[in-house]
Amino acid sequence: MTSENPGGTPDQYTFQNPVTRFESITPPKQDQPEPGLDRDIEPEADRGETSYRGTGRLSGRKALITGADSGIGAAVAIAFAREGADVALSYLPEEEADAETIASLIEAAGRKAVRIPGDLKDPEYCIALVRQAAEELGGLDILVNNAGKQVAVESLEELSDEQLDHTFKTNIYSFFRVTREALKHLQPGSSIINTTSIQAYEPSPTLLDYASTKAAINNFTKGLAQQLAPKGIRVNAVAPGPIWTPLQVSDGQPKEALPEFGKSTPLGRAGQPTELAPAYVFLASPESSYVLGETLNVNGGMPAP
Ligand code: NAD
Ligand code: MG
Repeated sequence: MTSENPGGTPDQYTFQNPVTRFESITPPKQDQPEPGLDRDIEPEADRGETSYRGTGRLSGRKALITGADSGIGAAVAIAFAREGADVALSYLPEEEADAETIASLIEAAGRKAVRIPGDLKDPEYCIALVRQAAEELGGLDILVNNAGKQVAVESLEELSDEQLDHTFKTNIYSFFRVTREALKHLQPGSSIINTTSIQAYEPSPTLLDYASTKAAINNFTKGLAQQLAPKGIRVNAVAPGPIWTPLQVSDGQPKEALPEFGKSTPLGRAGQPTELAPAYVFLASPESSYVLGETLNVNGGMPAP
């Protein structure tokens, strides 16, 4: 089954120059309270709404994606649906507006969208989320741990215990908890994909807590991949570089850094969320059957291990 890109614009298979595929944006200084909404970021981010073309690579699959309302998670949700998967979306209650937009796009692709808002810092929500997703989708065979909290802080002395706790609970504890519950449902052939970051190897001085969790995610991915390999469940990670999402305008970057965001990459521009989607599709699909414990870097050319 092939689902055409509804916009009729160039899609991810159109031969084009990666330097100019997307404009080199210079975002104006802007601020949103955490977690930030895609609806309000300037300029608008591209999640593939009018460009991502599915070719049936995930036909009939059942996916749970955390942080699926916006940014990278939203682009992955759109792509998965157009590739033929039903999708359960996890996000914070205050992100309902963004989640509704993405759910509509999933339904427009002819797939089921299940919205399950809640706070991943809460261990009970981590369990309830997986249960409800599996129940409403009729099973589960793709898990994307993608939610993340990133708040820049100038110095270690200014990093509060509360932020430290919230960053670790959101970015790494929830990956353990959601994955542990998901294992009750994942059959051989299933795939787990964790969103890490270039920050795992090149930590910014202002992101000590965040970058530490991203290094932990890489390590978790490589260890768990070995543990689950005999069961036929593959675990991999995707490490984005600077991608234009609400994370960046809700204190993810110091305000004065926003206009230059992404310009120092070899491609000279920030990435758009839709440019991440094919990496997740590849790792979710059986075509990557011999790829385990891998971190796929999608970062505009910054050298990474
Ligand atoms: P985003 O703000 O669109 O997505 C992050 C999502 O995390 C939010 O939408 C929210 O739903 C979810 N989230 C945060 N705290 C939560 C909580 N307590 N409970 C439930 N959900 C919660 O931004 P994004 O950039 O698309 O981020 C997605 C992932 O990509 C994150 O893991 C982030 O660390 C990673 N990443 C982003 C970049 C980048 O430049 N944007 C670079 C490297 C890695
Ligand atoms: Mg969001």
